[in-house]
Amino acid sequence: MDALDLGARLAQLLATGRRVSTYKLATLDALLQHCLEHPVGEDDGLRVSIPELAERVVEAYWPQVRVYADLGVLRQNEQSRPGTTTLLERIAQARRAAEGTRNASVAQWRTNDPGTWARTRRSVAHTLAQQPLFALQKTGGRSPGTAFLYDDSWLHKKVSVVDLDAHDWSIDLFPGVPTALARVSPLLQPVLQQWWVDDVQRLNAAALEAPDLHGFLFGADRAAVARLAPGLREFQDGRCFYCAKPSGASVHVDHVLPWSRVPLDGVRNLVAVDPRCNGDKLATLPAVEHVRDLLARPEADLQALAAPLRWPVDTARVRSAATGLYRAAAAGAPLWRGPGVYDLFDGRLVW
Ligand SMILES: [Zn+2]
Repeated sequence: MDALDLGARLAQLLATGRRVSTYKLATLDALLQHCLEHPVGEDDGLRVSIPELAERVVEAYWPQVRVYADLGVLRQNEQSRPGTTTLLERIAQARRAAEGTRNASVAQWRTNDPGTWARTRRSVAHTLAQQPLFALQKTGGRSPGTAFLYDDSWLHKKVSVVDLDAHDWSIDLFPGVPTALARVSPLLQPVLQQWWVDDVQRLNAAALEAPDLHGFLFGADRAAVARLAPGLREFQDGRCFYCAKPSGASVHVDHVLPWSRVPLDGVRNLVAVDPRCNGDKLATLPAVEHVRDLLARPEADLQALAAPLRWPVDTARVRSAATGLYRAAAAGAPLWRGPGVYDLFDGRLVW
């Protein structure tokens, strides 16, 4: 399957008509991330668990339901039926409850209150099946769609738990689709995020500052991640992960696999770096040797570092995402080695 054709088709579909909520964007972004993290053969299909997609959607909205300036929680859909609680409201409620008990991140919430977590995940999964997954391949309104990503013939606006049970709460991506989605993700992800920002602006007040809003909606939680800085610094003997120079007093924590591509906060994806490297690397994919070194760090050490903060390590997820990201990268893509120094990707993975 041609990745560019697929990407163009998706972009046209999403650009057509007015989006009444950001759910489709969130769902498609979750699908792209899922495909990046689960690399399969060129012509393979992939069974995708809807609750797993729900988990990614919750993670994406989690920072977005914080209070924004004096506007409160930003709106992300046009109207809700009276008496119903929107998907976003459910996530906002969960976040407020979690903050009250100091479970401020999704990972901490998952660990500390597994019951509420499981119920929310299931209810979000149910909503995804009824709305964005049902509607994603259709051009809005009542017009019929032609399924090109997965069979959606069994989905509808009132699809029940019984229907979902019968389909194992999963969608099956058609052969070739997972690889094509992973490959086109570097083009689609920034577009999705920009539309998402545009929609949030439209649904709230035109006066919202766009650059600021983008950071609010999609930025990593630097303050939370910074809590790992002392531990990572000690683990790296006070040296910058990338250039090995003494990192000095102002250590930054960097997501080695860029947060904008795969939002993975597990310690496996985090390193201590000096400000110079941090400011230069930005969202570029790092040289493959950096990823090899990232994955080679002993699991026990990372567990010891993460445990006191009740922070996840997520080794399997990071490893799988690394493979998916680089398999999807084009040969000749620039890979960041150090400040001002780039390799051209030769297609070889070294881990
Ligand atoms: Zn450095």
